[in-house]
Parts: sequence; C-alpha cells; structure tokens
Amino acid sequence: MIEATYYQKLAGSKVRCTLCPQECVLSEGKSGICRGKKNVGGKLFASNYEMAVSLALDPIEKKPLYHFFPGANILSTGPNGCNFRCRFCQNWTISQETSPERVIHPKQMAEEASKCKSIGLAYTYAEPLIWYEYVLETSKEIHKLGLKNALVTNGFINEKPLRALLPFIDAMNVDIKSMEGSFYQSICSGSLEPVLRTVQLAYEAGCHVEITNLVVTDLNDSEEHFHKLSDWISKLSPDIPLHLSRYFPNYKMTVAPTPVETLAMARSIALQKLNYVYVGNVSHEAWGDTICPKCGKCIIKRYGYAVDCSHLKDGKCDFCGHPLPILS
Ligand code: SF4
Repeated sequence: MIEATYYQKLAGSKVRCTLCPQECVLSEGKSGICRGKKNVGGKLFASNYEMAVSLALDPIEKKPLYHFFPGANILSTGPNGCNFRCRFCQNWTISQETSPERVIHPKQMAEEASKCKSIGLAYTYAEPLIWYEYVLETSKEIHKLGLKNALVTNGFINEKPLRALLPFIDAMNVDIKSMEGSFYQSICSGSLEPVLRTVQLAYEAGCHVEITNLVVTDLNDSEEHFHKLSDWISKLSPDIPLHLSRYFPNYKMTVAPTPVETLAMARSIALQKLNYVYVGNVSHEAWGDTICPKCGKCIIKRYGYAVDCSHLKDGKCDFCGHPLPILS
C-alpha cells in the first residue's frame, strides 16, 4: 500500500480522491467506490497497489487489440474493483466482487513479462485505471525492458492523471458503452464525457487506440446509436478500429443475448464511416478479418485467436500496396 498520487485533504480527516470523476469523499477508514483507495489516518492510500488478481499470457486479439502486433501474445494482469457499476458487467467476479490476489512488485511483473515471450504487459480484466499508481510504476519498468504497455479500460479518469500516464502507454482499448450520458448514469453509475475525452487525448498523444462497444439487447442497439458512435470515432480518425461485441446475460442483466442480425446492422452502419469494424463474441467466418479498405482483399485472416498475417507486408497490403495502420 502506498500513498495515492491524486487527492485532496479535507476538514475532519476526510479526503477527496481526484483520480477519477467519481471524486469520492472518504472519511477515515473508508474505501472509495472502486475499493482500490482507502483513507488511512487522513491520507489517501492505494490499497490495491501490487495486488494482482490474474496473470495469464493471452493472445493480443483477446484484449481485443487487432492492429497492435497481431498474432502476438501479451502477459495480462489486473486488480480487483472498478469505478463503474455496469449491470451487464462481463467480469463482475473481479470488478464487483473480490477474487484471490497475489503480491507482485512492479519490477517483478516486468521481469515476468520479459521471461514469457510476451510483447509486454496488458492491464485488463477489471478496471486498470483504479490501479493507477501500480500501472504507472510497472509501465515504466516495462519500457526499461523495451516492452509495450496496453490498457484495456473504461476510460473513466480525470485529465491530469491521464496526461501523466499516457507517455508510458503504447496501446489502449477503450470501451465506449453508449453515446448517451443517461445510459452511463443509469446503467454504469458513471458519465460519458470523461470517456470520450480519454479516447481523444490518447489518440492525440500518439497512443494506439481501438474502441470496443458491447452491444446490449434493447439498451444500446438502435441504428441511431451506431450512427452517433461511428460518426464520433470517424471525426478523430476513420482508421480507429471499432470492435462491436456481442452481449450475453451476466451479473444483473438477464435480457436475451444480442441477436446476430442486430450486430450485422451495427456493422453495416459503422462501415459507412469507419475503415475497420470487427464483431466479437460471435462465430462468423469473416467478421474478425482485416480487410484492405482500398482493394477489399483480406489482409489478416482470423480463426478465433489464430491469426494469419501473411498478406501484411511491411505495414502494407500485399495485394495493392495500400499502407495499413497496423503496428507489427
Ligand atoms: S479512483 Fe476510486 S476512490 Fe478514487 S474517485 Fe475513482 S472510484 Fe473513487
């Protein structure tokens, strides 16, 4: 446990955490919404520092990151807890409950990544931004070893800590759950604007950015939503990959899984504005493939997590020479 970086001391031994827009005000002995910060003796501490829930070598496609070293493996870890309360959470056993943890120091974590033929470290599973102090220190150790850092996140963080972290983050997959603020308030106990700001700042800082949208039956599956989402992303860049992910009932949400027809509609709307749209959590022979936006040929064929990149040559389409925004 170390002292948290972003907080204010208040009267009566209370503190205000300023890491994320929840800005929890905590009396002595209390923890924040995310359960990763605690007021001890009138100071705020990162109680989750060095406490890792999971450690696994995953395909980078599982994050999902499709344009960042496709076919590579990345050591993946994360903390317990989250600063959202999404009723459909697909990882609720660690985001909303407490799973067994183990202590791993930042240097030790980086060494683990270098030992296992990983391209680096992915901070993922629950919400890594609430593990801020640990992510920052570990990402520095990862860079010292010449490896990469990837964040898989809800993007719900204040601007100042985000700007301090971005120089160490090479890739980010940010979940945009909806383009409606009311959705974030009522379903996630969060808000939309900070999430969009995170995507924009990360992209402008040169971080590789991909977006995920979990499409939940009857909640965020309208044509209007997919138009709004793809319009907004395309204004940053039509080359930012969008992953439309199929929802399955989980945690407190019992509505039926997203119909495949809805995903097909969403994909076709998004492709009007974006060059790279993928559909995940569904079995379809072509929806995970990377298609050259110029000649229409398949550049990267994906079979589940197996990847054939043989038509990606020096960052270009092997058929027509069109440059592709894929790091490899
Ligand atoms: S990081 Fe955690 S404790 Fe801090 S404001 Fe956000 S939810 Fe609250």
